[in-house]
Amino acid sequence: TTAVMWFRRDLRVRDNPALRAALDDGPTLPLFVLDPHLWGPAGPSRRAYLVASLQALQDDVPLSVVRGDPVNQVVKAAKEVGASRVHVAADFGPYGHQRDLDVEEALHDAGIELVRTGSPYAVAPGRVVNGSGENFKVFTPFSRAWAKHGWREPPAKPRDPSWRHLKKTVDLPTVRLPKDLELPEAGEDAARTAWRAFLDGPLGDYDAQRDRPGVEGTSRMSHHLKYGEIHPRTLLADLAGKHGKGPTTYRQEIAWREFYADVLYARPDSAREYYKPEFGTMRYARAGTQLEAWQEGRTGYPIVDAGMRQLRATGWMHNRLRMITASFLVKDLHVEWQHGADHFLHWLVDGDLASNNHGWQWTAGSGTDASPFFRVFNPTTQGRKFDPDGTYVRTWVPELADVDDPHEPSSEDREEAGYPEPIVDHKAERQEALDRYAEIKK
Ligand code: FAD
Repeated sequence: TTAVMWFRRDLRVRDNPALRAALDDGPTLPLFVLDPHLWGPAGPSRRAYLVASLQALQDDVPLSVVRGDPVNQVVKAAKEVGASRVHVAADFGPYGHQRDLDVEEALHDAGIELVRTGSPYAVAPGRVVNGSGENFKVFTPFSRAWAKHGWREPPAKPRDPSWRHLKKTVDLPTVRLPKDLELPEAGEDAARTAWRAFLDGPLGDYDAQRDRPGVEGTSRMSHHLKYGEIHPRTLLADLAGKHGKGPTTYRQEIAWREFYADVLYARPDSAREYYKPEFGTMRYARAGTQLEAWQEGRTGYPIVDAGMRQLRATGWMHNRLRMITASFLVKDLHVEWQHGADHFLHWLVDGDLASNNHGWQWTAGSGTDASPFFRVFNPTTQGRKFDPDGTYVRTWVPELADVDDPHEPSSEDREEAGYPEPIVDHKAERQEALDRYAEIKK
């Protein structure tokens, strides 16, 4: 019989169990629905990357692209090709989960089945539970149980697929990028090439180098994983049998991604609400000109500004910088984390509700095994420690490229470079943050 493969966050052909399942049914319509609900809030970097990723997929698969509410569009497409089943990889995010239930119901009314095979994770959210059958709220026991649970071997690539297509489809939109924004290459081949380069290079030293933003020490897999151009199972299979600190630490990072997806699935409200509710009662500042200075990389703290500018210029930010800039917004400017999380989601190509919003809650002290609130990052010390020779700051704050101490430029250096004075005094704001925290602890 004819089938539909509805692609969403799985824009690849290899290691794609849902696609295999569709092709096992028979001739398959590969479908993508441009959903205004997801397209609307995405910034130019995310939109452009998605389009590039879909174009890359079209090299391998004759994708039919339609636009509109998936509930109508998927049913319409399935009927047009006479499909009896629509195949997907399960979506566990709050929006995607509900959307799939709605689509499933509408398909059911038309006598068509929605079949979920696999997910964007090695272990689907909800599967790893403790002795009482509940989801884990702390990372370390989760990661142990997750590793013990294990995952499947990647399935083989489908052979001799037979494809269907729709009579009427839409063109992929053209996205105009702001000048000075350069995105990484999209698509399954790009993902595999980057992954192999990481395996042969930085992986061995990943443990030591992953905190150095001035060094290419991380895998840059996050945007590929976000759009499913590569599956974490593929990465884990390649890491199997590799020992040492590099591979071990890397596996843990993949486990963090799976943990946050699991936490969000158990507590969908934690995408917006404080995971630890007492933090909702803290005094916060109104988001105003200081938030704007932070967004635009004009805080006068070089390491913070470097991170914020890297985000706008590349659609990516180094993990150490995500922590430093997030901490600055919440603890030095006293702005609620949701404002920062929204800004990140708008610009990050890898922007992912679970990893991002729980990364923010971790930094804000309100998340699962969060960094304790009273441990306040000093941006200058962080800069000196993780970017000791200033390479990173000099790259992203080029006006400071030639000053002696880019982490703490003198007033004269600032004036000459046209670089602002700090918008707040870190020492004073640190104390202010601790005072506000003491109020909610009473
Ligand atoms: P690597 O160091 O090579 O890590 C490999 C993979 O492990 C990553 O691609 C990612 O999938 C996973 N990973 C690593 N660290 C984390 C982590 N702390 N939490 C969850 N998964 C992790 N990651 C996103 O994918 N999307 C986001 O929107 C996102 N927002 C973040 C916001 C904040 C405030 C913080 C502190 C972290 C955020 N992260 C997010 C996690 C992390 O910063 C990125 O995954 C990482 O920087 C991506 O670069 P990489 O692929 O080179 O990482």
